[in-house]
Amino acid sequence: MKLRNMSICQSWWLCRPLTKSLFSPQTQRFWCHSLPLSTKVKILKHKVEPLGISLDNSCLPGNYHNLFCPKCKGGQLMERSLSFHIITDGEFAIWRCFRPICGWAGQVSADDKELDNKPDEESLGLEPLGPKLVAYFKERLISEKTLSRNSVRQLSDEKNVIAFTYKQNGLIVGCKYRTMEKRFWQGKVIDKVLYGLDDISHATEIIIVEGEIDKLSLEEAGYQNCVSVPDGAPGKVSSKDPPPIEKDTAYQYLWNSKDYLDKVVRIILATDNDPPGQALAEELARRLGRERCWQVRWPKKDELSFFKDANECQVLHTYNHSIVANGPRFSNTWELML
Ligand SMILES: [Zn+2]
Repeated sequence: MKLRNMSICQSWWLCRPLTKSLFSPQTQRFWCHSLPLSTKVKILKHKVEPLGISLDNSCLPGNYHNLFCPKCKGGQLMERSLSFHIITDGEFAIWRCFRPICGWAGQVSADDKELDNKPDEESLGLEPLGPKLVAYFKERLISEKTLSRNSVRQLSDEKNVIAFTYKQNGLIVGCKYRTMEKRFWQGKVIDKVLYGLDDISHATEIIIVEGEIDKLSLEEAGYQNCVSVPDGAPGKVSSKDPPPIEKDTAYQYLWNSKDYLDKVVRIILATDNDPPGQALAEELARRLGRERCWQVRWPKKDELSFFKDANECQVLHTYNHSIVANGPRFSNTWELML
């Protein structure tokens, strides 16, 4: 029954007069009639590749293609569920995954002007960190080398604002700003993903932290296989089960990073040692699968308190510090050296 539904969905999608029904006159204004067809196809190919859609030479304009969906991978049956179409004159490409649980859809135009709208450091008004912010990070034991490798920048017209660039496949997909007074805001976002995503593209063991600075701290300790959540921690653990993926807006960054996370065998949750941090660890474990999640126990700071996070641990303990993570079964432990 399920399969039958899917094929109905698929044929419904494929039979629709796509160009007429889904594209408003506004979209058409971007059409570029001047470029040769082969160039337009090349541009489209170039644009969809970072999204995980790989086109071979058989993908010609005017035809429909069933490809593997990079978001859901076609589910358990590994169906080629992504219906992909380049319109006849090569002006744009459009796609939709016909698995109802996924339904990923999108479009790109062959107009080069659209490429100009992609954020880069220049369009975001970013520049390399100045001496003041470099000193700020140095106090937190984060070196210029680590800052540079992670493309940490500052706003060129407001020099005290740190800009954490969020990248995927080397391209900026988002940017988060932070003042020295710990005020945060989000810049233009194309895709909400984990911070440092490219660093886990080949990792089977990863560490998830609660902030960009903790990610940088772990790099100082020798761990590059680390990512940070983009939005900090929730107030408390939800009393309900996680909603379906498409409605799970608060954790969309996990689903957008799914390709990277699916192949990971062990996930070390190194969130903050406070109630929101513990709630975040729980919400992450619920979504990532408890069986592969391990949770860090931050060590005692003094008689009464514990360290709060990776950065605090590192700043207050300049010597090597062994930190234990508890595995899904209590007998399992894993050590992190900070
Ligand atoms: Zn899909």
